[in-house]
Amino acid sequence: NRRPAANSVIRPDFKFEDMGIGGLDAEFSDIFRRAFASRIFPPGLAEKIGIQHVRGILLYGPPGTGKTLIARQIGKMLNAREPKVINGPEVLNKYVGQSEENIRKLFADAEKEQKEKGDESGLHIIIFDELDAVCKQRGSGAGGGTGVGDSVVNQLLSKLDGVEQLNNILLIGMTNRKDMIDEALLRSGRLEVHMEISLPDEHGRQQILKIHTSKMAANGVMGNDVNIAELAKRTRNFSGAEINGLVKSASSFAMQRHIKVGTVAAIDDSIMDMKVMMADFVRALD
Ligand code: ATP
Repeated sequence: NRRPAANSVIRPDFKFEDMGIGGLDAEFSDIFRRAFASRIFPPGLAEKIGIQHVRGILLYGPPGTGKTLIARQIGKMLNAREPKVINGPEVLNKYVGQSEENIRKLFADAEKEQKEKGDESGLHIIIFDELDAVCKQRGSGAGGGTGVGDSVVNQLLSKLDGVEQLNNILLIGMTNRKDMIDEALLRSGRLEVHMEISLPDEHGRQQILKIHTSKMAANGVMGNDVNIAELAKRTRNFSGAEINGLVKSASSFAMQRHIKVGTVAAIDDSIMDMKVMMADFVRALD
């Protein structure tokens, strides 16, 4: 009969298998243990041990590997409202002051809700995509010398440092270039949990292929000869996004068989029986 801890918001019905993310089970449970375990502690325990909830994590690794997918699923798992997404290069393009104002408002909203609702406050997630873009600028005088990067990073730092009492904020930074991220942002109390999201291995690629072909398989559109295990072998060094692209491209080849091009292009009636075959995947691979 213990009351849930403050901000203990993890959805009880949450299942990793339903997330549509392939090959990242280990990474996800690791992030969970390192970054969110304290949010399911009994009330007061975190304070007793003297720890604070993690308020910032950094996901890094090659493009198209599922960082955005993970960040959004973390939001769902924690039952948070729709995350606010900030994009590094976009921030630099906005006129000076606007980005800081946006960040200030995000934190102010979270603070207001925490004051009004206390433990009942929902979690506010901020996803900062391509974080390296603003860090590159810091102190370098690059980017036309606007100093926008500098001030955005400083703004983030001061906000993160100022949220001692705020348990309802989570900042998720994402980058392909961890080496570019300002050291100051990676310290304890800031983006303190770092997780590398790498290219999927063969098992991961098999899972991703299954995810992206699940609709066609369920609707009888996938040919009997499609060999997912074989495709996983032949997609070494593919990212999840590239595997998604492969499936789309194979479907497109299958569709093309049903398009008659004459004076007018028309869809053949046989389109209803269309099947995506192994040969379409092989053609897409080529
Ligand atoms: P970037 O660094 O370029 O922003 P990212 O790592 O954030 O890339 P996502 O945007 O999450 O990559 O992935 C792009 C798309 O690729 C996803 O919408 C999804 O369709 C597919 N994808 C990538 N990784 C996976 C995965 N592990 N499982 C299933 N689908 C994936």
